[in-house]
Formats: sequence, C-alpha cells, structure tokens
Amino acid sequence: ANEGYGYYAARVGEHLGDGRYNIVRKLGWGRDSNVWLARDLVEKRYVALKILSAHATKTHHISLELELKLLHRLKNTNPAHPGYKHILSILDHFSITGKEAGEDVSHLCLVSEVLGEGVGSIRRRSEGLMLPQGMVKTILRQVLQALDYVHRECRIVHTDIKPDNMLTIPQDLDSFVEHSLTTEPPSSRPVIDSLGRKIQQHTSQPLKYSPSSPSSSIQIKLIDFGHSCPSEPHSTHTVQPLELRAPEVILGLPWSTPVDIWSLGCCTFELLTGAWLFNPQAEKGWTTEDDALAKMIEYTGESFPDEMTGEDGRSTGRTKQYFERDIFLGRLRRITEFDSLPVEEILQKYIPIKGQELYECGSFLREMLHLRPADRSDASTLLRHKWLEDY
Ligand code: ATP
Ligand code: MG
Ligand code: MG
Repeated sequence: ANEGYGYYAARVGEHLGDGRYNIVRKLGWGRDSNVWLARDLVEKRYVALKILSAHATKTHHISLELELKLLHRLKNTNPAHPGYKHILSILDHFSITGKEAGEDVSHLCLVSEVLGEGVGSIRRRSEGLMLPQGMVKTILRQVLQALDYVHRECRIVHTDIKPDNMLTIPQDLDSFVEHSLTTEPPSSRPVIDSLGRKIQQHTSQPLKYSPSSPSSSIQIKLIDFGHSCPSEPHSTHTVQPLELRAPEVILGLPWSTPVDIWSLGCCTFELLTGAWLFNPQAEKGWTTEDDALAKMIEYTGESFPDEMTGEDGRSTGRTKQYFERDIFLGRLRRITEFDSLPVEEILQKYIPIKGQELYECGSFLREMLHLRPADRSDASTLLRHKWLEDY
C-alpha cells in the first residue's frame, strides 16, 4: 500500500522478527517510519515497533552502526540519572526485507515500550490549541531532565526536539492498550488515487491521553533519536524543522547541544500560546531563512556576534549568503528594517499573562533563545529557573 513512500506495508496479524512480534494496530507515523503496536510473544507484553522506511534505512545505512551505538549509549550510560526515565527505552532491533518496485529492500525495526498520546496531539485538541501553564511546566521539567541526561551524560544532540516527539507515559498500559483496540486505528481512511487505486493514508487517529488525569501528573518521555548526533565533533549539516531551527544551523555553522535548547524554547512558546514563535515567511525581497534571522533579531533584541556573521574571518559556513561584507559588514543582506518586538509582548498577544509571571516566563524563554549558542543556558541550569519552581 505504501511502497511509494518506501514504507514497509505491514499487515495486522503479520509476524515479524522471526515470528516473535505480532502486529496489532498502527500507533503513528513520521517522515521516516510507521510505528505499530505489536504483541511480543516471548515476553508476553505489548511493544511498539518502529519500522523505518527503506529510504531512511538506506540513508542511515552508513550511520546505522553509529545510530545503534548512540541508542546503546542512551541505554547504558547512567540509569540512575533522573532524566533516564524520560527517555524511550529500546528493547530490541532487527531488519526485515520488503519490496520496492519489485526489488528487495531492507527495513530497520526498533522495538520499544508502548507510550501514549504525543504532547503535540494533546495541544492540537485542547481549547485554544494551547495547554495550561502548569501542565507546560510539568512537561518541561521532564524534557529538561531528559536533555540533561542526553547532553551532559551521553554527549548526544537530539536535533529534533518538538512536541510530537514528546509522548505521554500511559498510567495503566494494559487498559490503555485494550481501550486502543476498541478505537479506530490511525490508518483506516482510504484515499483513491488518479488510477482508482486505494492508497493507505497516513493520517493518525492517535491514542488519547486520558483527559481526566490531572495535568500535574502527566508523565513524559522523549522519543525519536533517528537524527541524533554525537555532540563532538560539531556537525554543520541542516537539522530541525525551520520553525524550530537554531540560527547557527541556518547559517551552516558548527552546532551542538544548544540547538536542542533553542528548539525547546520555541516549543515552550508553542505549547503556551498555540502559535509558532517563529513562523518565517518568504517575501518578494527575501527568503524564509532571511525572515527567520530577522525575527530572531527582533524578538531577542540582540544582534548577531561577529563569529556568527563571518566578521571574525574564521567560521564562515553560509554566512556570506545572509550577511553583508565590506562597508555594511555584518548587516543582513536583504532585510534592513527591523521592528522591536520583545518576546514578552508577543506572549501577551496570545495569553493573559502579566506582572511577575510574565517577567519570569519571558526570562525563561530568553535563557533558551540567545543568538549565540554559548549564551544559552544548559538543561540543568534551566531546571533551576524561577519560572519552573513549584508553587
Ligand atoms: P519524524 O517525522 O518526527 O522524524 P519518525 O518517522 O522518526 O518521525 P517517530 O517520531 O519515532 O517516527 O514516531 C512516529 C510517531 O509514532 C510518533 O509521533 C508517535 O505518534 C508514534 N510513536 C512512536 N513511538 C511510539 C511508542 N513507543 N509508543 C507509542 N507511539 C509511538
Ligand atoms: Mg518523530
Ligand atoms: Mg524522526
């Protein structure tokens, strides 16, 4: 059904992994994979089976050993760290063979524990598309614990921090799964293509996080390490969706763990307000990336330091594409007029927040959104921020 995407066309009832895993229903999907609920017949438990697309398996092929090495590092570095329980546990992995245009192709399968609805999905079905502040703080404390473990102990950059990669931990897994089996699976809406063929559409009807549970008790795990990198040596390739992309990534400069902090800052704003902080748009005279860089200057009130504009003559990356040389050294090439739009003011456009609460929330966001990566607070420092304190 999904060969065009390079997805493996798994069927309910199919057995994978030498017969050990029995496919029950679809849990979700992403750019790189379909994720299925399966019964582990050996351990007699439910598991989640992430079947990577042939494309993802192929592009990961060279780095496959690396990816498994990173997953191994996440699993074994320090189980006693408080962030460890907020990281998805990988239980097993194996490869299967599928067909792509008549040819055999390989798909990597990652077996993990079953988790619940994603934070992005909860937000999208909440009133005003936003979450209550208390719930956002509870989620952030756990994601920051996870990031402290990933960054400081494992020396890994996640590179895809977003609400859809933060999943809830079901309080009672078995009843959660039983309930899921009585609700419609996510991939059931057929779409007919131009030749009249039925195509399986990848819209997700996610498993619902029980709305009756008090928001302060929500438990979160960080998932999807498919694009993670070691924090050393620094990489320069493009990662992160543009809305959540750190400035050093846009500029093609070497990046590391602070890119996750930048994305988390953007996510915090998104969860609180239901809107993207940066929603860059191309106009006649400039590209979406130009617009993103200009908005970063406007919302932070900062200017790019010399080492990020290429003025220091060393770390150039793609800086020449975006910044002037010679007399207008360091100025953006295509956008020259700026508004002053402090992040606090943008927050107030969306939610009624003022006084001390606004000050502390603004300060928390600013700690994560400094233009210079080294100026951003790390996860453990953010965990001690006033805004996250219990009240
Ligand atoms: P992306 O487009 O974000 O890169 P991906 O192809 O790498 O996605 P994942 O993010 O790992 O795939 O998983 C896709 C979706 O499947 C998730 O957003 C979630 O809805 C669901 N999912 C993934 N892992 C689990 C799990 N362990 N338990 C329950 N659902 C899961
Ligand atoms: Mg994902
Ligand atoms: Mg992914």
